[in-house]
Amino acid sequence: MSIVKVGNIEIGGNRVIVAAGPCAIESEEQAVTIAKAVKKSGALIFRGGVYKPRTKRVSFQGLKEKGLKILETVRKETGLPIITEVVDPRDVEKVYRVADIFQIGSRNFQNFPLLVEVGKTDKPVMIKRGMNARLDVYLSAVEYVTAEGNERILLCERGINALETHTRNTLDINAIMALKTVSTFPVFGDPSHGTGGRSDMVGRAAMACLVVGADGLLIEVHNKPDEALCDGDQALTLEQFDGLMMDLKELAATNAVGRII
Ligand code: PEP
Ligand code: MN
Repeated sequence: MSIVKVGNIEIGGNRVIVAAGPCAIESEEQAVTIAKAVKKSGALIFRGGVYKPRTKRVSFQGLKEKGLKILETVRKETGLPIITEVVDPRDVEKVYRVADIFQIGSRNFQNFPLLVEVGKTDKPVMIKRGMNARLDVYLSAVEYVTAEGNERILLCERGINALETHTRNTLDINAIMALKTVSTFPVFGDPSHGTGGRSDMVGRAAMACLVVGADGLLIEVHNKPDEALCDGDQALTLEQFDGLMMDLKELAATNAVGRII
C-alpha cells in the first residue's frame, strides 16, 4: 500500500481522509463559510472546483483564475489543503501554485496530454474513474502520470453509467474492493457523484464506501444547496455533513471497519 502525504496528512494509512466542500467555488464568502464548517466537522481536505467541465455549454463553467484566488484565501484562513480540478494542460502551472492535490475529472481521465503534464509535477494527483471505463482501462490511464515520474496517485470511484437510470450514476462498490487488490494506490469513494443528484443517498453511500475499505471520501457540501450553481441536488447541508461525520466516526470504530476518521 502506498501512502500519499499531503502536508502532515497521510492518505492510505489507518486514518480515512475526508475531503469536503462545494462542487464549485462561487464566491469567497461561500467558500470560506463551507471550509470553516467542514473543518470543524472533521474534514481534513477542502474540495472545490474552479474549472468546471460541464455537460452543457450554457452551465456555469467555474470562476477560473478568480476562483484560484479564493482557494488561496481558504487555505490561508483554514489551513486546509486544497483539492481542485484541472481540465486543460495549459492551466497546470496556474493550478499548481494553489492546489495541494490536482483533481482529474471523470470526463478527462483519458486526456493524455493533461495526464502527462500533471505527471511532470511533484503534487499528488487524484484521477477519477471515467464513468464508462473498465478498471483495466482506468489503470492504464494512470500510467500516463506515473510514467512521467509522479507516483503520488489517488484513485477515486465516482459512479459509472450502468443499466439502471433511477440514479444518475451507479456507485461501483465492487470497484473499490477490486482496486485495493490490483493496485497499491489509496482509493477514494465519491458518494456524491456516485449516486448523482440524490443528497438523500449520499450518507449511506459514504458508509458503504467506508465498509468496503475506501481510504478516503470526497463529499460535496454546500451552505445553501438550493442556490448552488452546480450539483446542488447532491450537496449535503453543513448540518447534514456534520451529522454524517459523527456517524462515519462511529462506524469507522466498529470491527466492520477498524479505522479512524
Ligand atoms: C466534481 O468532483 O465536481 C466532478 C466534476 O466530478 P466528476 O469528474 O466525477 O464528474
Ligand atoms: Mn460536482
